[in-house]
Amino acid sequence: MNSIAENLTEIRERIANAALRAGRNPDDVTLVAVSKMHGEDAILEAYAAGQRHFAENYAQHLRDKSAALAAEKDLRWHFIGKLQRNKIKYVISAAAFVETVDSVALATELDQAALRAGLTLDCLVQINIGREVQKNGVDEADVEPLLAAVEAAPNLHLKGLMTIPPYDLEPDETRKYFVALRRLRDARGGVSRLPDLSMGMSADFEQAVEEGATIVRVGTAVFGNRN
Ligand SMILES: *Cc1c(COP(=O)(O)O)cnc(C)c1O
Repeated sequence: MNSIAENLTEIRERIANAALRAGRNPDDVTLVAVSKMHGEDAILEAYAAGQRHFAENYAQHLRDKSAALAAEKDLRWHFIGKLQRNKIKYVISAAAFVETVDSVALATELDQAALRAGLTLDCLVQINIGREVQKNGVDEADVEPLLAAVEAAPNLHLKGLMTIPPYDLEPDETRKYFVALRRLRDARGGVSRLPDLSMGMSADFEQAVEEGATIVRVGTAVFGNRN
């Protein structure tokens, strides 16, 4: 088995090649290492190899790991799970990025929590692209009011869109969801309004980069299998 550092080197290379194939600048893609279910030692190993963006999908895990690793000042946490409103307090001062804003009510409460904490929070709106089997994310029909709500929130910064395609598809089947997210972005104001597209995981991050991802969320390919 490869080390985390070797995995990261290989993934960065694959991201760069995918970007170049699509005529994009590899520097425009941020690799987020999804550390869920992995310990601080693994995160520190990735950090030592130059990795700076990490993601968790449970609010308490984000709180605990960010507290344990607070000495690494330039480590950036993304929250990528379903955010229950009573858990906002765990996320607000730890996360640089909340990728899963999926309702106006959540946006409103995040804004108020950011105000109380005296900070501004970068947000992505999570889109339910694979509607038939997906549970999380806003339906395309309800996107505009949610985008407008995040834009109107003084303590939130709208950065773009995020999606999780249906599970268990082949990489080339998920591509159509990546294309759909990019088209939705283009229909909703394009890169000037929504610069970031967070899409692509271990099995399909190259396809996502080819289709315009600026953030890829990669867990297993970095850290190995989760127990
Ligand atoms: C777990 C998770 C990932 C990473 O999945 P891998 O297949 O392990 O790369 C990405 N995004 C979200 C939202 C996740 O929950």
